[in-house]
Amino acid sequence: MSADAEKTFDIVILGGGSGGYACALRGAELGLSVALVEKSKLGGTCLHQGCIPTKALLHAAEVADSAREGEKFGVKSTFESVDMSGVHRYKDGVVSHLHKGLQGLVKGKAIEYVEGEGRLVAPDTVEVGGRRLTGRNVVLATGSYAKSLPGLEVSGRVMTSEQALEIDFVPPRVVVLGGGVIGVEFASVFKSFGSEVTIVEALPRLVAAEDESVSKQLERSFRKRKIAFRTGVRFEGATQNGDTVTVSLEGGDTIEADLLLVAVGRGPVTDGLGYEEAGVRLDRGYVVADERCRTGVPGVFAVGDIVPGLQLAHRGFAQGIFVAEEIAGLSPAPVDDLGIPRVTYCDPEIASVGLTEAQAREKYGDVEVFEYNLGGNGRSQILQTQGFVKLVREKDGPVVGVHMIGARMGEQVGEAQLIYNWEALPSDVANLVHAHPTQNEALGEAHMALAGKPLHVHA
Ligand SMILES: Cc1cc2nc3c(=O)[nH]c(=O)nc-3n(C[C@H](O)[C@H](O)[C@H](O)COP(=O)(O)OP(=O)(O)OC[C@H]3O[C@@H](n4cnc5c(N)ncnc54)[C@H](O)[C@@H]3O)c2cc1C
Repeated sequence: MSADAEKTFDIVILGGGSGGYACALRGAELGLSVALVEKSKLGGTCLHQGCIPTKALLHAAEVADSAREGEKFGVKSTFESVDMSGVHRYKDGVVSHLHKGLQGLVKGKAIEYVEGEGRLVAPDTVEVGGRRLTGRNVVLATGSYAKSLPGLEVSGRVMTSEQALEIDFVPPRVVVLGGGVIGVEFASVFKSFGSEVTIVEALPRLVAAEDESVSKQLERSFRKRKIAFRTGVRFEGATQNGDTVTVSLEGGDTIEADLLLVAVGRGPVTDGLGYEEAGVRLDRGYVVADERCRTGVPGVFAVGDIVPGLQLAHRGFAQGIFVAEEIAGLSPAPVDDLGIPRVTYCDPEIASVGLTEAQAREKYGDVEVFEYNLGGNGRSQILQTQGFVKLVREKDGPVVGVHMIGARMGEQVGEAQLIYNWEALPSDVANLVHAHPTQNEALGEAHMALAGKPLHVHA
């Protein structure tokens, strides 16, 4: 071995997003030597183009709605306009604060942070800028990119979430292609900012991965907010003419817009990175990994959006931490996708964990369901929001699904995920005291009702 040869790390991580950096931090905490390779900004999609900036926009949207709706609460306020440069200043300030904090964390943990585009050149080696980083273990965490549809070029007024996060104007008319999480969140923002919004979704309902009753409530709420949507209809094409886009739908309808937001899902970043050459199996571009995040190539793990399943930052964190602990020999319990809480931050918010009613019926046959209407929840009435908490339990068994919709209901997902993951019975939760008046009470009341002792429930 020559004097200047690189040491062998315990873990070399390719990609510094949620999955990669969580693995690096936990690995270092456990005393492992770690190299973390990132070609762009530490923090990845979530911090720079995903969770954080979009939620900042959604908060600005809520402020705009509050100004608009003051009268409803006896407050004389008027909504004037949205100053996008001010919105960006606020959003970028939040991102930059968190980015600095994260950089400090990584520095403080003596992680070897390597800037540059890496490539897997052998099962134990990542090459970056001519430097070869060798690890006893390699973790692939290269994340995802915004997809488009065949023949639909992203340019000009046709954007994905990445460009839409940076626009310096409020488009008068927006078409959102895709009624999934990212689509409905942006639709919600644009509507609050003053745009006329139409969502186009090929599936029969908005947020189709959620419980059907949640989709119905969201559609009711969006109708009330005058967010238009066309479900069960296919997009055929789009043409740009100056600053306008004409969107054509199957059946011959067209919609004119000033912006077409393409939100049709995210694909894995795995192309040309040497994964297959190193023996890692890909399926439609995704890395095939088992429940212990193993790729099948000894010592090579994969975490986050490149692994099929929920594309959520906290899944990436959990898998990254899992892999670090696995490498350190702690034999952690695998991450169960069903136990991962899901929140969609549009107005009204959606939060869920576990099985939908349809999935539970398929799995257990006989299930019990209860829907607690937020009409009976004091705090929700104070906020003037509508929605519900829906519980799905195995017949005479534990709660296997919690589905919530209503303003701010995302905040209730913490207790919901404890209930699901601890396999609580409705009677266990019914005995816990929930503070009054909180929206959290709605969760308590739903369990009381399912346990046969309803309180604020009309027969
Ligand atoms: C608009 C939007 C909103 C979202 N909102 C939420 C939300 O509210 N809550 C939530 O949980 N999730 C949300 N997500 C999803 C979340 O951002 C992702 O699930 C999460 O970022 C995945 O983490 P990851 O580590 O797998 O990948 P990423 O965060 O994509 O990180 C991968 C990193 O790898 C780097 N990389 C790629 N290739 C190379 C290479 N060859 N060499 C070096 N570095 C490389 C990239 O630059 C990137 O930094 C949102 C996503 C989007 C797009």
